[in-house]
Amino acid sequence: MTTVPQIALIRDPRFLEHDTGGGDHPETPERLLAIEQQLCNGPLAPHLVFHSSRMPQREDLLSFHSEAWLFRFEEAVLAGRTYIDHPDNQVGYETYQVAQLSAGSGMVAVDLVEGGFSGPVFSCTRPPGHHAEPGMPLGFCFLNNCVLAVRYWQKEYGRRRICVLDFDAHHGNGIQTAFDKDVDTLYISIHEHPSFSYPGTGYQEEQGTGPARGTVLNIPLAPGAGDARVIEVLDGPVQDALERFQPQCLVVAAGFDAHRLDDMSGLAWSTDLYRIIGFRLGDWAARFCRGRMISILEGGYHPDSLAASVEAYLAGQLSAVTGSEGNSHPGREKSGEKQRCL
Ligand SMILES: [Zn+2]
Repeated sequence: MTTVPQIALIRDPRFLEHDTGGGDHPETPERLLAIEQQLCNGPLAPHLVFHSSRMPQREDLLSFHSEAWLFRFEEAVLAGRTYIDHPDNQVGYETYQVAQLSAGSGMVAVDLVEGGFSGPVFSCTRPPGHHAEPGMPLGFCFLNNCVLAVRYWQKEYGRRRICVLDFDAHHGNGIQTAFDKDVDTLYISIHEHPSFSYPGTGYQEEQGTGPARGTVLNIPLAPGAGDARVIEVLDGPVQDALERFQPQCLVVAAGFDAHRLDDMSGLAWSTDLYRIIGFRLGDWAARFCRGRMISILEGGYHPDSLAASVEAYLAGQLSAVTGSEGNSHPGREKSGEKQRCL
């Protein structure tokens, strides 16, 4: 009998139906297809189990977003608008539904972890979420998938202290908005310096306000920063912050646009760095959170490097979970949904 450790991939063919216009918009369905193709044809294939997304409850969306925004979003889509507020935020008829399914994928991930799944859990979703504010879309994002997953985790399972770690090349302004005054959450973001990069927030001085001061840790990197600098901050301030905060759960805003081949940022990370990040996070999740960690895809716009980086990230996490340094070894019996690729 074959026994292999598992990686749960939450993905749904409906994620492909969010239409960003088919022009030169970088946030395309092909991003997800590239990831699946890489994973299904590579060394991680025997480890994969697939789960579909589900629609969240309205009250779950309202844990961060305003009723006014949800109505405005739905109306814009039904009216046939092609974007909301800015051409970055392209929409099609399906976008309102798909954005909700995208948010639901984080909740499916939480349910899996709380149901006892102990391997890496990755939500391979779009549209992304970390720029979305309570009342408006921003930077390709409509609903804040990571924030909604945190609120769901707290409400449904009573986990109070949750850390969001965001390694997308851009600052997750929407996540910071959500947690700026919240003493129960820790937001750590590693991103290209806001003087040079979208959306222009995420300065080191932004540390949370009032009693929550110190629960936001922004680590801006100079353009051109590469692997050595990232490893330095992971093993320094990031690990220190986790040790101080002692989270019960980790939600990872997993963006891959800091890759050196991705022209959405000036950062210069290698594919192998994502393996190292995955290993560190898997190790920290085991140490601090009894393995309670989920990752939700954010950016990453160079399809080949995105796909390779996701694979490296998951391989790193798998190594941490199985206690090996790269190669998997026999674990528990394989179960769950039959493997099938898009
Ligand atoms: Zn980004």
